[in-house]
Amino acid sequence: MPQTKILLDESEIPTHWYNVVADMPNPPTPPLGPDGKPIPPQALGAIFPEALIQQEMSGERWIPVPEPVREIYRLWRPSPLFRAYRLEQVLGTPAKIYYKYEGVSPAGSHKPNTAVPQAWYNQQAGIRRLTTETGAGQWGSALALAGQMFGMKIRVYMVKVSYEQKPFRRSMMQTWGAEVFASPTDMTESGRKILAADPASQGSLGIAISEAVEEAASRKDTNYSLGSVLNHVLLHQTVIGLEAKKQLEKIGEYPDVVLAACGGGSNFGGIAFPFFADKAAGKKVRLIAVEPTSCPTLTKGQYAYDFGDAVGLTPLMKMYTLGHDFMPPGIHAGGLRYHGDSPLVSQLYHEKLIEAVAVPQLATFEAGVMFARAEGIIPAPESCHPVRAAIDEAMKCKKSGEAKTILFNLSGHGHFDMASYDKYFSGQLEDYEYPAAAVAASMQRLPRVG
Ligand SMILES: *Cc1c(COP(=O)(O)O)cnc(C)c1O
Repeated sequence: MPQTKILLDESEIPTHWYNVVADMPNPPTPPLGPDGKPIPPQALGAIFPEALIQQEMSGERWIPVPEPVREIYRLWRPSPLFRAYRLEQVLGTPAKIYYKYEGVSPAGSHKPNTAVPQAWYNQQAGIRRLTTETGAGQWGSALALAGQMFGMKIRVYMVKVSYEQKPFRRSMMQTWGAEVFASPTDMTESGRKILAADPASQGSLGIAISEAVEEAASRKDTNYSLGSVLNHVLLHQTVIGLEAKKQLEKIGEYPDVVLAACGGGSNFGGIAFPFFADKAAGKKVRLIAVEPTSCPTLTKGQYAYDFGDAVGLTPLMKMYTLGHDFMPPGIHAGGLRYHGDSPLVSQLYHEKLIEAVAVPQLATFEAGVMFARAEGIIPAPESCHPVRAAIDEAMKCKKSGEAKTILFNLSGHGHFDMASYDKYFSGQLEDYEYPAAAVAASMQRLPRVG
């Protein structure tokens, strides 16, 4: 049996984050204000601290990780890289499958990699409260944890359907001292507007973002924190790929393919961007974002300026979008139910420098169960997506006889998602058709720019 677990030393936790902007062939598209003009950085000051705004706009290749942030990263970083040797045997593939495991963080996913620096920069700027949204509860619990570490109050607007489906994620946030509300609430104008139109609204990430942004913009002591999509979030997540590269280097490996689930794009950017640096320098490596067929932002969306939230409070970002008020079907991978995508990931996809595939829900759970039985770890429903795609790649290798090296990011464990596994086992999970009519209707309401 080859070495199956590749570890790094604490001293090898990255000292700098990698900024992909430095290696992109074209500069990133700027966010636009309501007037269709690029928004001045100061305009973001109502909800973000200066340090994060600078990172959002930065073209510097390397950005230092503050020592107090590295100190907290030590709780779970460096995270392990595994060779999925047993899975390879089950599949009978000549491919080598590696996975980086981010479920070792206290919150059980990659999200604390950015929650911790975001809380820290806000605390340094004298901010005392943060508002945020959460879908499945992964981001809310990551920020609750990070807030607790730096003595910040955290208020979480949790998408109602998840609030009801995942009560233990809520208890987890409360354990770390956060306040949690089922969104839409009647506490914000945005929430009241949605409820007036649809009193039975189950909520969406876009709606919860509107509520959190509205509250942060209206209070001086309060900022807003986002768990994905924005440039600085993807920047912080590059610790994943930087470590993975070093781990593979130690055993003389380099991937042919890198895969990750893609909701807003943060764990994909996190693992893939450090490899993009090599690709930009001429190396051959495929970077593939994996999304659900029911919310196929990259593979079926339109590349256009759109709002990040449902109500239209955020700046316009150029991204692949299904329309800002699109309501994705209630799939169990809650973290992948977002109408848009990271502008950086979108631009690289538009320029054909990265790839994307969409996979249906049932096939992802089938892959997740197969993975758990071979490797032991039970993947989060989101993470079942790259597991599916990695297995598909490995099976192609079985056909062709190629011994490719596949790397994927196992973004989190599924311990809070066993109700979804239950449904899968009892045959109650379904595949959703691509919601063509709902997307088409939502695309009619794209904001007009230029
Ligand atoms: C939130 C989440 C995702 C999707 O978000 P990205 O920003 O696209 O990474 C994927 N996996 C897990 C476990 C998550 O919590």
